Formats: sequence, structure tokens, C-alpha cells
Amino acid sequence: MEVAKTISELRTVIKSARQAGKAIGLVPTMGCLHAGHLSLIRRAKRESDFVVVSIFVNPTQFGPNEDFSKYPRTLEADIIGCAEAGADLVFAPTTDEFYPAGASTLITVGSVAEKLCGEFRPGHFQGVATVVAMLFHAVQCDVAIFGQKDLQQLAVIRQMTRDLCFPVRIIGHETIRETNGVAMSSRNRYLSPEQLEQATAIPAALAAAKALSKTGITDAARLREVARTVIASQPALKPQYCEIVGLETMTPVASTAGQRCAIAIACHLGSTRLIDNALL
Ligand code: AMP
Repeated sequence: MEVAKTISELRTVIKSARQAGKAIGLVPTMGCLHAGHLSLIRRAKRESDFVVVSIFVNPTQFGPNEDFSKYPRTLEADIIGCAEAGADLVFAPTTDEFYPAGASTLITVGSVAEKLCGEFRPGHFQGVATVVAMLFHAVQCDVAIFGQKDLQQLAVIRQMTRDLCFPVRIIGHETIRETNGVAMSSRNRYLSPEQLEQATAIPAALAAAKALSKTGITDAARLREVARTVIASQPALKPQYCEIVGLETMTPVASTAGQRCAIAIACHLGSTRLIDNALL
């Protein structure tokens, strides 16, 4: 497995993979890799012939009071994990390499990016869409794998890919969970063992809504309420949102009847922000 630190090194390696007729798969990450990321890499290996993992803590997707400077950076271990999971190339640019002085273009995706996390993290999806578009251009991938764990991000990327005619197939990959059901996240490192236990109320809330939905209830207010009650039973969790949304629009719905929906939750636990979701 090779490691490229610059766009020009990346392009050289990609060019020879392309010339060898290989389909290129991309897994964009911010590093601090866990089993969820490694599962994405293995999926990319099944969907393409040459897997590129990008590792870049993207400053433009963090708000001024968010955790950009303290976001965990574990590049050495990440490189080993990528090699073990079957990646062919790690692309780990510096911030200056990826955003040279004077860079000013930003991509705004529209309404799919406005609700849920978009409401609480202004500018976040603009940063995400911009960095992913840059990666698509730099890597020239045929397929890109994203986690369903970040469901709104996946919807934003799908919209941008359609709108900007990127010839990239977008795959959403299932959420990988800790043994206690909490969705794996690089930010779980911030949690104490007690908080990791308290966080189980989030998957429990999702499961309660899903179970009610399976009984045939389609009223979004009822589904939302059952989940909110479970979240409220754990006072350490400070919810930001708990909504039933349409899968494509990421906008709250009144009923799940006749459309693909999900329940999406964001909570603070201490100073850590956690998100999770389940398809209904
Ligand atoms: P991040 O490094 O957190 O920006 O995530 C990089 C990619 O990994 C994104 O597509 C995430 O949705 C995905 N991802 C993060 N956590 C998980 C998880 N627990 N299961 C599956 N994919 C995940």
C-alpha cells in the first residue's frame, strides 16, 4: 500500500491504476479509524479494484466553537489499519496542500443540507460538499463509499453528485456499532465508560421508534414521541433533535406512509455531540 501526501503524488499513482484498467474506489475519512471505517474500506474493495482512503481532518466542516483542534489524529495507526483492510493507497494531504492560500470556492447544496445537523452546524455541509467534490476531482473515482451513520451527509453527497454530474456511484454502507449498540464514532474516544453506557439510550430510542413503526404506526409525531421518551429517561443526554425525516429530503414528515423515512437523533453528552439514525 502506498501513501501520498500531495495531489501530484496521488495523481501519478491513480494514473497508473487507471492505465491498468482498474476501477477506482474512494473512502473519504477524517482518520482516527475504527471498525466502521475499516468496514467501508472492505466494502470498497468488493466494489472496485483499487481502493483509495483519504485521511484529512477538513477544517471547513468545523464551526468556530467545534472540536477541529482537538479532533483525534492517529495517522500512523490509521495507515496500518488501511493496509490491513486492503486499501491500495492512503491520501493524507496537509491542510496547506488541500487548501492553498487564497482558496475560496465553496459548494452549497441546498435544502437537503438545511435541516437537522444543518440547522445546528451552520456551514458544516458546505465544508463537507466542498471537500468531497475536491476529492472526487483529485481521485477521479468510479465509486465512493459513505456510512449511513452520517445519513444527512450521505443525502447531501448524493444530491451534489447528481447536480454536478460527477460520474461517481455513491454507496451507503451500514452503521457498525459497539457491542452495547452505540454507533462507532471517532468521537466516542471523548466518552468516559459511564458516558458510553449512558449513550445506549440513543440506539434504544431508535429501536423503540422502529418497533412501533413495525406495528403499522405511520404517524410521525407518535414515532418521534416514543423515541423522545427514551432519550428523556437518560438525563445526561441533551437532545438537539429527534425527527422523522424523508430519506431523500432530510426534512421532517408528518407520516411515514408511502415514503422511505428514517428517524434521526443528535444529542450532546457532556461536551461530545453524538448522532445516530435508523431506517424505518
Ligand atoms: P469520519 O471520519 O467520521 O468523517 O467518517 C468517514 C466515513 O466513515 C463517513 O462516510 C462516515 O459515515 C463513516 N462512518 C463513521 N462511523 C461509522 C460507523 N459507525 N459505521 C459505518 N460507517 C461509519
